Amino acid sequence: MDLGIKGKRGLVCAASRGLGRGCAEALAEAGVDLVINSRTEAQITQTARDIAEKYGVSVIPVAADITTEEGRARVLEAAGETDILVTNAGGPPPGNWTDWDRDDFIRAIDANMMTGIALMQALVPGMMRRGWGRVVNITSQSVRSPIPALGLSNTARAGLTGFVAGMSRQVAGHGVCVNNILPGIHATDRADSLDKGVSERQGISIDEARKQRQSAIPTGTYGRADDFGATCAFLCSQQARFIVGQNVLLDGGALNVTI
Ligand code: NAP
Repeated sequence: MDLGIKGKRGLVCAASRGLGRGCAEALAEAGVDLVINSRTEAQITQTARDIAEKYGVSVIPVAADITTEEGRARVLEAAGETDILVTNAGGPPPGNWTDWDRDDFIRAIDANMMTGIALMQALVPGMMRRGWGRVVNITSQSVRSPIPALGLSNTARAGLTGFVAGMSRQVAGHGVCVNNILPGIHATDRADSLDKGVSERQGISIDEARKQRQSAIPTGTYGRADDFGATCAFLCSQQARFIVGQNVLLDGGALNVTI
């Protein structure tokens, strides 16, 4: 399917690997010129080179911590007038609800709520002026169904979701569609580190921890970053013009609900 976005400009944050990279690759395949970001210079530069070579689009890497004001300023300067924004950042660490103090919550809220909001506040007004834009926020299944060990994530991402629910309806009349994708477990480094956490807490091998977590998913597998990216690219397509303020759950059926 032609997504109708060839030649558009996109910014994908936290994109050297994992779900962010999946989104960057799918947008590049659709012909979008990109600015991509992550903290480690060598990795983001290599990823940009790989994507540019594979898909023949322009890919500018920016090594910066997207959760800081300084990092965001550099990314936004490189991005300029962007038509497509994918917000993403690393997830907060696991723990127990009794462990976290105010600073832990502020850090999680800065990274997984305020970063997305600040990026939208910076870029969506330009999209509205130009009459076209797409925003996809990578959040988590924890927005629909809390993950006990990820209380910081449950909290911060719920805040971002509430913000998007309101603002997406305020900007839709200007041709800007803002939505969230909620990943269930995907086979990325993040999933490996959560498998490791389960293995340590339960005294089982990482392989056993992975099998245990996979068996709780109706598909019996973890999701794939390239499939995730394809969904993101569709939400950024022309054809997604009627999809507004939605929370698209990609979890292999793990959340056992009717709607
Ligand atoms: P990942 O494989 O660990 O990749 C994270 C990417 O983000 C890397 O490119 C990393 O590069 C970059 N990054 C991390 N912190 C950053 C920061 N502060 N500024 C800029 N770039 C940053 O993670 P993932 O699995 O793709 O997960 C992406 C998001 O989805 C996370 O928020 C995660 O919590 C959430 N999520 C993932 C799953 C899953 O199963 N994978 C499920 C639910 C939710 P550098 O380290 O070089 O910066």
